[in-house]
Amino acid sequence: MANGFVPGSTALPPEVAALVARRDRLLGPAYRLFYEEPLHPVRGEGVWLYDAQGNAYLDVYNNVASVGHCHPHVVAAIARQAAVLNTHTRYLDETILDFAERLLATFPAPLAHAMFTCTGSEANDLAIRIATAVTGGEGFIVTSFAYHGVTSATSSMSPSLGTRVALGEHVRLVPGPDPYRHGAAETGRLLETAVRAAIADLEWRGHKVAGLLCDTIFSSDGIQPEPAGFLAGAVQAVRAAGGLYIADEVQPGFGRTGAGMWGFARHGVVPDIVTMGKPMGNGHPVAGLVARADLLQIFGQKSRYFNTFGGNPVSCAAGLAVLEVIAGEGLVANAARVGALMKEGLEALAQQHAAIGDVRGAGLFLGVELVKDRGTRQADPDYASRLVNALKRRRVLISASGPEANVLKIRPPLVFSADNAACFLEAMAAALREVDDATGR
Ligand code: PMP
Repeated sequence: MANGFVPGSTALPPEVAALVARRDRLLGPAYRLFYEEPLHPVRGEGVWLYDAQGNAYLDVYNNVASVGHCHPHVVAAIARQAAVLNTHTRYLDETILDFAERLLATFPAPLAHAMFTCTGSEANDLAIRIATAVTGGEGFIVTSFAYHGVTSATSSMSPSLGTRVALGEHVRLVPGPDPYRHGAAETGRLLETAVRAAIADLEWRGHKVAGLLCDTIFSSDGIQPEPAGFLAGAVQAVRAAGGLYIADEVQPGFGRTGAGMWGFARHGVVPDIVTMGKPMGNGHPVAGLVARADLLQIFGQKSRYFNTFGGNPVSCAAGLAVLEVIAGEGLVANAARVGALMKEGLEALAQQHAAIGDVRGAGLFLGVELVKDRGTRQADPDYASRLVNALKRRRVLISASGPEANVLKIRPPLVFSADNAACFLEAMAAALREVDDATGR
């Protein structure tokens, strides 16, 4: 895992070592921690996380607390609803409907119904079931370093979990977009050609295509927003084969890209199903999907749907409050404005540091690709890891992603200000100097 804590690699302060040991004893070996020295935040506010000693860390990473850690409007909405009623979707309830109405209003008209889950994994799992039921197919196409969730179905479509997590027999991988290496002009054509080959391979083996499932900013594939529109040909190919386009908006959704609420818009194609999660409740576990009415008509005839906690009134109150904050505080425009400042600052740093091969991003979702050599463009995961940890020592939190773990993942809460951006860029400049010195570059 990119930016994973490696037990035994660094001497830890006794209190940190004790917590790590307790965690191992109680939670077992499947979990991972971030950073060479794991962080123990005890409080969050806005773009800041505080550790037990009261040190403030600038959060340039967390897209879940997207309207800011512990945003008072969201906290109040959760507390108010929790004090009145919390039930489920088998009772009539206006809070659920108010949330669904407000959420659906952010989508183009064909996406007419909302369904609620607790996690992004469940949302993708449900989308997979709907696509399977509607198309009669079972074949899915995902990118080669995709992540779509923890359930059996979604983990079988998440190659970023590694080769020891089995891919589904009906799942085909296509190389993730990589305009830095293959050229912006070729990105769409390469993806479409690979999708067509995947469709042909599925059909050859007797599997009808059910859908193309992709993160519209390709987060785990290394953050790939450019060039806008590159997804259109691949979607067209899948639809021509009878499959659906499922846009996974768990990462880019809710305004992060700065151009609107949803990442799919930059590709100019309206999905058949859109899944979402993470920032939807600003930390409260609420997720879900929106879909075309005709698809849910077919699915609903075949199957009823009940998710005990999915769409409960407290979660919906949280979700509604998040939408109110995004609109009320102009956070989409803020993502565009501050994201542009960050991108400009990072591009200026790239002029001074040869390790930076590429700077890309949309709104407040930025990727910085570290390379050993700008000519060969060979990935430099060691440099990326040193940089992430050098920033953490400066109390600035980011992480890394991509198939080679060499792309910095810069993804702060949407309330990030121009001052916060300046603070981040200053720390980044110092960290780059430190890592250049340490690696003799
Ligand atoms: N899809 C994408 C693109 C994700 O990044 C994630 C979570 N990292 C998921 C789905 C799964 O969401 P959750 O962890 O809420 O199940």
